[in-house]
Amino acid sequence: MNKIEFKKKFSRRLAEKFAMDVADASPDELYQTLGSLMTSEYSQSWQQTWKDYREAEQKQAYYFSIEFLPGKMLKSNLLNMGWLEMVSEGLAELGIHLNDLAEVEPDMALGNGGLGRLASCFMDSIASTGLPGNGNGIRYEYGLFKQRFVDNYQVELPDEWLQKGNLWEVRKESKAVDVRIGGDVYLSPDEYGNLTPIYQDGMLLRAVPYDTGMVGYKNDIVNTMRLWSVEIPPEEEDRYRSIEDRRAVEDLTSVLYPDDSSEAGRKLRLSQEYFFVSAGVQSILRYYKQLKKPMDKINQYIAIHINDTHPAMCVAEFMRLLIDDEKLGWERAWNLTQEVMSYTNHTIMAEALEKWSIGMMKSVCPRIYQIIEEIDRRFVEEMTGVHDFDLIQRTRIIQCDQVHMAHLAIIGSHSTNGVAKLHSDLLKSVVLQDFYRIYPARFNNKTNGIAMRRWTQLANPTMSKVLDDTIGDSWREQPKNLRLLLNYEEDNQVLEALASAKLENKKRLASYIKEHCNIEVNPHAIFDVQIKRLHAYKRQLLNLLHIIKLYLDLKEDPEQAIEPRVFIFGAKAAPSYHYAKSVIKVINEAASLINQDTTIKDKLKIVFLENYNVSLAERIIPAADVSEQISLASKEASGTSNMKLMLNGAVTIATLDGANVEIRDAVGDENIAIFGLTESEVYQYYENKNYSATNIYKENANVHKVVKALIDGTIPNIFAEGQEIFDSLIKYNDEFFVLRDFEDYCLAQESINEAYKDKRRWQKISLNNIAHAGRFSSDSTVQRYAEDIWQIEPVFAHEDDRGVIQHDSYLL
Ligand SMILES: *Cc1c(COP(=O)(O)O)cnc(C)c1O
Repeated sequence: MNKIEFKKKFSRRLAEKFAMDVADASPDELYQTLGSLMTSEYSQSWQQTWKDYREAEQKQAYYFSIEFLPGKMLKSNLLNMGWLEMVSEGLAELGIHLNDLAEVEPDMALGNGGLGRLASCFMDSIASTGLPGNGNGIRYEYGLFKQRFVDNYQVELPDEWLQKGNLWEVRKESKAVDVRIGGDVYLSPDEYGNLTPIYQDGMLLRAVPYDTGMVGYKNDIVNTMRLWSVEIPPEEEDRYRSIEDRRAVEDLTSVLYPDDSSEAGRKLRLSQEYFFVSAGVQSILRYYKQLKKPMDKINQYIAIHINDTHPAMCVAEFMRLLIDDEKLGWERAWNLTQEVMSYTNHTIMAEALEKWSIGMMKSVCPRIYQIIEEIDRRFVEEMTGVHDFDLIQRTRIIQCDQVHMAHLAIIGSHSTNGVAKLHSDLLKSVVLQDFYRIYPARFNNKTNGIAMRRWTQLANPTMSKVLDDTIGDSWREQPKNLRLLLNYEEDNQVLEALASAKLENKKRLASYIKEHCNIEVNPHAIFDVQIKRLHAYKRQLLNLLHIIKLYLDLKEDPEQAIEPRVFIFGAKAAPSYHYAKSVIKVINEAASLINQDTTIKDKLKIVFLENYNVSLAERIIPAADVSEQISLASKEASGTSNMKLMLNGAVTIATLDGANVEIRDAVGDENIAIFGLTESEVYQYYENKNYSATNIYKENANVHKVVKALIDGTIPNIFAEGQEIFDSLIKYNDEFFVLRDFEDYCLAQESINEAYKDKRRWQKISLNNIAHAGRFSSDSTVQRYAEDIWQIEPVFAHEDDRGVIQHDSYLL
């Protein structure tokens, strides 16, 4: 479509939909109109993609994830359709700013943080590299809560993202499946003497899929993200007459759990997991049966990926369908299951390793429990005599009345991967070392990545333009070509152009900050950014203690030569996570104190932006100078905001944790500020049990001064919260070694301060970071999953001269 056609079609569609012309329409009506033009355009490709895959009998991958975090889709779909420029110009000629329409779209926030965002970056990359891969998840009625600050406390408001409808989704009622939750089950011989399950009571619920097109980058490929919503089947209406009964059903897909790291026995959560697992696996099998291939060959056509343990029941559900419905023998079904399934581990934090009590699992999905019990029994039988008794007891699925979901996922699949080199090594040497002894060949690494297009072309058009002018635009397709920038490391003009793009982005963020927080910040100051979920292991507290140190130092000597800094935070705390909410309160109160203190001459500012989400990330990241990646070494599996920030020219201050290690390897020590304990030093402390936070507090004057400020009234209004944090450090011996790393962190911060003073040096470091970010493209990550784990291949379909669709299948 060209611009003239677009304008004509746009005006016509607006008239059809709303009986209006451009001058009268609201941004929302214009957004709806543009969106509907887009979906009608790509729907053809969507249908065609599906037909192509089917005709080519392509093996398909299904990415099961309890979270997806796509953010806004309007501009990313425009970009991938190749329409962005054309539409932006066309609308401008009609007197409309595309950005005003984009603002209308609510963020699709069906995820908490990194895990969900990774799933969405993968969806984009899978489509963009032409891979036959689909998402499978839950269509939560309410996304992650909206965060507001009241009296500097976090307050949570519901996120009613569907209120005005969702124009990207298509309800597919005809593709619904039924899912049984609760009740009892017993086995009874059928007419051939085979045991078959007889179900009693329980709820039969309808799972209705809502499909969203995942538009590939300029390749006419549109894959599917399928999200399931619960409904009461019409024939069961009579059973759910009361409001309470109906509510009990609707709750199932109502809210996203706002806590991705602790699993306090929550039946609803387990029901959610089984619901989307069963619906997804059933619909995959229905599709496979339409291919009319023997069940024995399903592993050649289907790959199912278990993203973290929440969908681990895929293993048992797949077994259930193969043995109960398809009547396969156990052994055959089990071999197929292992070949179809693969699993990604995302954390080594003990509280996040999901376990469910036997009672709970029996009450939610009794047949699944029976199957897990049998898997466990056979596992023990198979391992007996091969491995020692203790090892078997540690690795079996059912232990002490609990079902270990990670064990189920590992035993029931052919691949277990970590998400950064360090993390994958830790899995092998510590966290999952028992399993590594049993199944060494199953373990592999797939370092996370990010969808480059969103985090450069969409989020940072200013920098993108400089890149185009400098190295051409091939980096837009091939992020590795960002390396070409290295040829301009000594080129003042290029360095200046990048610096002025950064300044422009900082000015834009400064005016957003002025508008939303009423804080004036100096765009020439260092913009120092920490954006991620609020969690003790991520150590926002370490950042805060350093700020307090700078503040106290400035109070003593206001003439100190430090570069002005703006510390920017974005973080939500899980509503039930008391400590994390206290940290927010203390940062906010410190901000009130410091931002109003005129004696320090605007050398320090703290800005805590409300409601951190993908859209806010897109505003902040292009304006960042410094990227805070300061988790305790060994705790952050990978991190991905570290990648987004380096890509946008921020300099990383980091511990050697997660993918920070690979960032250091990529840019070299001179282009990153590394500090703190290493992972092996942390483990040594665990082993020797010889860490004493109190000793550091007593012996180190700097630490003492700063920590005391939490409880001595230096920061007003934090009586209880300051004490709570103080206690976490001193009374409970500082679980995440904040005080141990403090001095080293301050030194690293000083080196950042020094480097920033030398503008040219800073610009070179920044350029190096951009130039080396290409290796973190999720396009490459998903290609590695495709080749090593899923064994799927891209199909590019094109029409030959006679208009017949041809398939080019090749590995990129
Ligand atoms: C990238 C991203 C994250 C992940 O951040 P980490 O620092 O890697 O934990 C979380 N939330 C949002 C909105 C993101 O875009």
